[in-house]
Amino acid sequence: MAIKLHVGESDNDTHVSPDLVKPIIDRVKSKEAAPFLTETSTLYKGRRSNAIDHIIQAFDHGFTYEKLGAPFIMADGLSGNTEIEVQINGMIFDKVSIAREVVFADALIAVSHPTGHPQMALGASIKNLGMGLSSRIGKLRQHSSVKPYVDAKACTFCRKCIQWCPVDAIIEKKGKAFILEEKCIGCGECLSVCNFDAVRYNWGVESTDLQKRVAEHALGVILNKRSHCFFFNFLIDMTQGCDCYANRQERNMPDVGILASSDPVAIDQATLDLTADRHGRSIARKSEPGLDATIQLEHAEKIGLGTRSYDLQSL
Ligand code: SF4
Ligand code: SF4
Repeated sequence: MAIKLHVGESDNDTHVSPDLVKPIIDRVKSKEAAPFLTETSTLYKGRRSNAIDHIIQAFDHGFTYEKLGAPFIMADGLSGNTEIEVQINGMIFDKVSIAREVVFADALIAVSHPTGHPQMALGASIKNLGMGLSSRIGKLRQHSSVKPYVDAKACTFCRKCIQWCPVDAIIEKKGKAFILEEKCIGCGECLSVCNFDAVRYNWGVESTDLQKRVAEHALGVILNKRSHCFFFNFLIDMTQGCDCYANRQERNMPDVGILASSDPVAIDQATLDLTADRHGRSIARKSEPGLDATIQLEHAEKIGLGTRSYDLQSL
């Protein structure tokens, strides 16, 4: 059983703590399942952009085998390119690129920490699945509608990207790497292998499109194990920005509680509703008043990821 979580970037201290994940792991193990903690490499350069740094970061934030009793296994390999193309019946994509080990897991629990998000407005279960469990190509397809390019100032011309590009789309130009846009297939390999942060891409997919793309990747994550997935949203320590921010963030609303559901759309809808009921504005509206987080929910419902209707039972 894969247990997807977010270990928090560098100095982030508002992510879901290992102490809160431990009871979930204990419960899974009591049912004689074999849980592993899992994550994928980020597109941006940080402390989680490859498996080695990410695992060290997880350990630094307390997600250790000694503490939790479950190993930490990156779902997308050493540098984010171990993936499976999953066929989906989406409205944008007919296949999405998902981290391999998650596709092969029999079951999945996603532990999510709802926050605001500068492009999605809400980052919760749908985002944790779609962006958080896609491979690097999948992330690139969600974030960008254009091909990557090389920042000549940062390029040392080590040639590594040239060796890795599967379609020979990178050439030398004036002593630097240069990407031929017409040949590039947008696979993201050059982003993975460049150690100098010289391969860049445009983050510029607009919010509406990004939210829909993320929902379609989330569908690809759960498709082969739909009845063996469960979701937790920890509505605590909520912040304006997501846990990928490397700095400490102020909490932007009081805690609400912990939601649990077998439906990733219902739990995100309930997250918006409960934060709005308790605090006047939803976590999304309070964080990003100019964006509409319901786009991801509407689209997720349309493509069959789940339903926005729910029956809230308080424990
Ligand atoms: S891997 Fe990076 S630094 Fe090396 S040639 Fe390619 S773009 Fe330049
Ligand atoms: S994204 Fe892939 S195809 Fe395009 S230049 Fe980079 S490695 Fe080559």
